[in-house]
Amino acid sequence: MLKSTIGLEIHIELNTKSKMFCDCPNESWQAEPNKNICPTCSGQPGSLPTINQEAIKKNIKTALALNCQVAGNSFFERKNYFYPDLPKGYQISQYQAPFCKNGFLELPMLNKKIRIERIHLEEDTGRLQHPEGADYSLVDFNRAGVPLMELVTEPDLETAEEVKEFVKELKLVLRYLNVSGANMEKGEMRCEVNISLAEKLAAKFGTKVEIKNLNSIAVAGSAVEYEITRQTEILERGDKVIQETRGWHDKKAITFSQRDKESAHDYRYFPEPDLPPLKITPELLNEIKATLPELPSQKRARFAQEYHLNKQDIELFVNQKSLSNYFEEVVSELTNWVSEKYQDNLPSEEFQKLVKLAANYIVTDLQTFLKEKNIEFFSEAKFKITAENFAEFLSMIYLGEISSKIAKMLLPEMLSKGGDPSQIISDKGWQMVSDIDEIEKAVKEIIDNNSKAVEDYQKGKSASLQFLIGQVMAKTKGKAKPEVVGEILKRFLNEK
Ligand SMILES: [Zn+2]
Repeated sequence: MLKSTIGLEIHIELNTKSKMFCDCPNESWQAEPNKNICPTCSGQPGSLPTINQEAIKKNIKTALALNCQVAGNSFFERKNYFYPDLPKGYQISQYQAPFCKNGFLELPMLNKKIRIERIHLEEDTGRLQHPEGADYSLVDFNRAGVPLMELVTEPDLETAEEVKEFVKELKLVLRYLNVSGANMEKGEMRCEVNISLAEKLAAKFGTKVEIKNLNSIAVAGSAVEYEITRQTEILERGDKVIQETRGWHDKKAITFSQRDKESAHDYRYFPEPDLPPLKITPELLNEIKATLPELPSQKRARFAQEYHLNKQDIELFVNQKSLSNYFEEVVSELTNWVSEKYQDNLPSEEFQKLVKLAANYIVTDLQTFLKEKNIEFFSEAKFKITAENFAEFLSMIYLGEISSKIAKMLLPEMLSKGGDPSQIISDKGWQMVSDIDEIEKAVKEIIDNNSKAVEDYQKGKSASLQFLIGQVMAKTKGKAKPEVVGEILKRFLNEK
């Protein structure tokens, strides 16, 4: 039986205002080619780098969120190699002394802890373009010098599913921290997989294969699945896996050989002479700690404890920050609306009922509406119903001030135009019929016109009562309370 061992190496562009070692704007994606460059990031002789403090803080923030130790003393190094997108001929990076190490990230759905070996900071390279049919390539240095975090995991992962969940959860953490857009399609987050297969009980790992440039979570998963199958076939027929770097071919959905071990670089690392050592004081660490927001894992725990929501609903809220903010605002407003009835002493089981009501409407009705309108993410600014109005709508349902039929008419009205639900109800004449005489009149008419159902009811067929209630509700255009209608009906039928 073969077992796969997988480690990840993930590069993350930080969303700082300027680049890592100069003042150029950090906007590699939008700007025209070679617009955001200066002597430092284009590698001119005599230019000197300076360290971007914001990048250091954002890296530390990430490290703390991922339970890493942050070294008080570390330094930058030069990683020497030649490549056309690297104007200096070396990259400023960290090797011997990464300033963050020994952390972990928990996979929420699979309940597994993945250890993080290190997170260090370096600068990104430029970007090469190969125009189709041309016998030349173009280079754009806008990205050269953009702050780049490199995160390396321990080889704790075993399956494609775990890889996908790790990348997904990491992306979420980075977005909660607001340290990176973490958009894989834009290259703001880039994933490499190291994978080897060996007998389950073997003492050593198998031969390591590296897969580079995986630009989406789905692609990372597919590449791992493909590679496990490929290596299994090789080993099962008695051959050896070659240690190499492979790429991912999107159209063919296969990995392919890019370079083998022989062409591996010797980077000749040495301390960067133009930069001072990095000193992180305990004061700075505490200062950054204080700015950490609630993290996805903490939010999951809080939503389970405070709102008793199911796992699926919690995931929806944790993955959509603006939607969960809206939900919490609605619950708080709704509690205010309803608390009056309980002299500001809302019993906890009533609070849970309100939460359930709000969650149901937001998870089902609201999501259906967004899907119909092709809106991928909820944003309160673009949404017509304010949390206050939504809460009022829900309080009307909870307090029985509107029937479910009126609620079904009212919600689409609010979704498309917004507005105060009580105002809409009075404008449309949808107030509940509370006049008993009026309901009795309708009940009498329905009994007279449905002798078959009346007979069935008297023979003991309880479904007939539901039918008759439905008829009265239709007659009053859904504006009577079904419980009141039911009681009057029963009284009339028993008198008959
Ligand atoms: Zn620059």
